[in-house]
Amino acid sequence: MDSQQVLLLGLGIEAPWKLVDQHLDTDKQPHELHLEIRAGRGAKYACPVCGRECPAHDFQEKTWCHLNFFQHHCYVHASVPRVKCPEHGVKLAEVPWARKGSAFTLLFEQAALALAREMPVNAAARIIGITDKRLWRIIQHYVGQAVADFDLSNVKAVGLDETASKRGHNYVTVFIDMERRSEPVLFVTPGKGKETLKQFKGFLEDHQGRPEQIREVVCDMSPAFLSGIEAQLPNAQVTVDWFHIVQTFTRALDDVRKQESHIAPLPKHTRWAVLKNAIADHLTVNQLNALGDLLAQGFDTVTAWRVKERLKWIRQARTPRAARWRITRFINYASGLVGDSHLLEPVRKALQTLRTHAERVIRRWTSTYTNARMEGLNSLFQAARARARGYRNTETFITMIYMIASPAGSVLKSI
Ligand SMILES: [Zn+2]
Repeated sequence: MDSQQVLLLGLGIEAPWKLVDQHLDTDKQPHELHLEIRAGRGAKYACPVCGRECPAHDFQEKTWCHLNFFQHHCYVHASVPRVKCPEHGVKLAEVPWARKGSAFTLLFEQAALALAREMPVNAAARIIGITDKRLWRIIQHYVGQAVADFDLSNVKAVGLDETASKRGHNYVTVFIDMERRSEPVLFVTPGKGKETLKQFKGFLEDHQGRPEQIREVVCDMSPAFLSGIEAQLPNAQVTVDWFHIVQTFTRALDDVRKQESHIAPLPKHTRWAVLKNAIADHLTVNQLNALGDLLAQGFDTVTAWRVKERLKWIRQARTPRAARWRITRFINYASGLVGDSHLLEPVRKALQTLRTHAERVIRRWTSTYTNARMEGLNSLFQAARARARGYRNTETFITMIYMIASPAGSVLKSI
């Protein structure tokens, strides 16, 4: 293998193209390696629209950033012909080493994607020596292409949840295939609520699916989602995930705690003492002491905590019938505990929510889909936020969710 072949390795250069010059620019730090590619005289080139072999009309000088060659930055230069097709007129020909419109060679892009799959994008960008904005553009191109090829014709059950790319900002709603263990994400769209169901329906129809084929939707109890599902997915039954029930009561508890702390100082360590799961999570001695103090002094926060902890009793029901009975008992018991305390209003609201959606909650006892999958979404969201840090907006956040949790991830591996 001579030196020319080494330089061309992986560049995908084929006739009529050949390497005509190479030189190392030692004035630059680090040194730059420049490769000059030309096509033979009188060569014909394919029209980018129809593929017909056509003569060159004129040439345009182009430069691509190629993989570093050892420590040297490497650039590829070529005069790219504009072909004159009798049918399509004058068009810029495509070159085999780069995709249309890209300032990087394909090999460079492959290396960039390989790194971006393994680490935060800003770290990958630093390693390959480009700005993270440019790396994002490469990633978005390939992810977008992979997503465009998704086939949703067999999807029967979806789970959906919303999250923010930053705390309280830029919501996105994520749809997953409840039947797929790995790479479950099907669709991610900006926003939250009713409109996102309409977007999903459109995406489904654009990807060989029909709204009628969706039989079950697993989601939280937000009225916006529920009315969206009713409007867009006519055959879907809604199952409310247990995870969201616990979340609803945990949030209510936290609201009570915050309100009460404005009125009276709560014992130290109260926050995590009440937010943790009293049995599954190990409470520290300080947290146990805080619970003891809360109980002894009869704070409303501890009443909200007792209601939340009691939820487990419902979940342990073995049959839908038992679950229905336990929900009724639970609501009566909790309403008694809450009484007419003004501070406990958030818990009263949570109970009302549970009452309204009881049948959808009970469906989880007959549904084949466990809520572990929905709970797993939260760690996925966290990972996507971390990987997109430094340059995070709705668009990059969505791209990252697709990259780490949708079939686009596998597609990118094979590019
Ligand atoms: Zn043509």
